[in-house]
Amino acid sequence: MDFTLSIQQKQIRRMARQFAKAELALIAKEIDEEARFPWEVVEKMGPLNFFGMQAPRKYGGAEMDSISYCLVIEEISGVCAAMGLTIAVHNSVVVYPLSQFGNEEQKATYLPSLAAGEKIGAFCLTEPNAGSDAMAIESTAVREGDSYIVNANKIFVTNGGVADTLILFVSVNPDDVKKGFSAILVERGTPGFEVGLLENSCGVRANPVSSIVLTDCRVPKANLLGREGDGFKIAMAGLDTGRIGIAAQAMGISQAALDASLKYAKERIQFRVPLARHQAIQMMLADMGTMVEASRLLTLQAAHIRDQGGNSPGLQQWPSSLQPAPLQKCHRWVYKSMEVMDIPKTTRLSDIFEMPG
Ligand SMILES: Cc1cc2nc3c(=O)[nH]c(=O)nc-3n(C[C@H](O)[C@H](O)[C@H](O)COP(=O)(O)OP(=O)(O)OC[C@H]3O[C@@H](n4cnc5c(N)ncnc54)[C@H](O)[C@@H]3O)c2cc1C
Repeated sequence: MDFTLSIQQKQIRRMARQFAKAELALIAKEIDEEARFPWEVVEKMGPLNFFGMQAPRKYGGAEMDSISYCLVIEEISGVCAAMGLTIAVHNSVVVYPLSQFGNEEQKATYLPSLAAGEKIGAFCLTEPNAGSDAMAIESTAVREGDSYIVNANKIFVTNGGVADTLILFVSVNPDDVKKGFSAILVERGTPGFEVGLLENSCGVRANPVSSIVLTDCRVPKANLLGREGDGFKIAMAGLDTGRIGIAAQAMGISQAALDASLKYAKERIQFRVPLARHQAIQMMLADMGTMVEASRLLTLQAAHIRDQGGNSPGLQQWPSSLQPAPLQKCHRWVYKSMEVMDIPKTTRLSDIFEMPG
């Protein structure tokens, strides 16, 4: 398989890299420390279509191929992991399923503002008692006339603190959650909608990952995505795309950690030579570089298969499940570098990623 990038893909990567350096590099540390969502940068990302990568052109999206999509997320994440997370989740588990399963009216209503980045999307599946076991959700939507009365307690919602358009997974049939598993579009500000606690996540604090609570929230029946009972299919379609995006995010972070390690190893002199001249260090760096490259190839392969219309959820899970290996190696090595540089152990990962590259 040939993953040589096309001219267009190279241009997209260059554009994302330049944007990340110009707009995010200087503030990444500050927004992480302050846990601040950088709206001023989001405004600039909109016109570049970072929020519409997975949306059809008809609704203002870029309808980007999956490899280009990975390249953008990798470049943004290498400089600011939080904003990489923002666009990965917004595109893969909100814009994409809405484009695939929404009816004409829903697409015309929601997609243009999502694709433009004027509104931020969120995906609400996880609950306190439903993590890996998604079927264990306890959130309900009960029909009442032309509406659903929704009661839900969702946790770990990426973009939760700033999202305007949310895809929420509920059961319309509490007696048979599987049969009733459904996806419903909810807008921030609907009476009964509340943003709960923000997570204090490591290195991605600028993304407000939060809980979302809905209490007797009246949502129009027209907001049902697909049909009643389609929820699981919709969630999995989004997550298959989501895994590729998150793998690309981890790629960006891994590459940044590797670059920082390489730079430091060339600068720091011990025993009268740079660290990089010591064979044990060379082996660590070579090992890290190999793992980063292997993970990149798996990520791109999953993206390629998706673009060929392949339906291989197993394969699409590989990159994200393999990702921890290079990431952990990079982290371990960067932490070793921190010891040598006498950087306090409490330093956050985002600080490390901002070591000049
Ligand atoms: C930063 C962040 C952002 C997130 N964003 C979102 C979001 O936007 N929307 C959303 O809905 N969710 C989101 N999540 C939640 C995420 O999808 C869940 O964390 C995930 O589904 C795992 O659920 P859990 O954390 O409850 O772990 P659990 O399901 O409790 O699993 C705990 C551990 O047990 C293992 N395990 C579970 N079942 C099995 C099994 N059958 N066999 C072997 N091992 C098993 C798991 O691999 C894991 O290591 C986010 C999480 C994080 C950390």
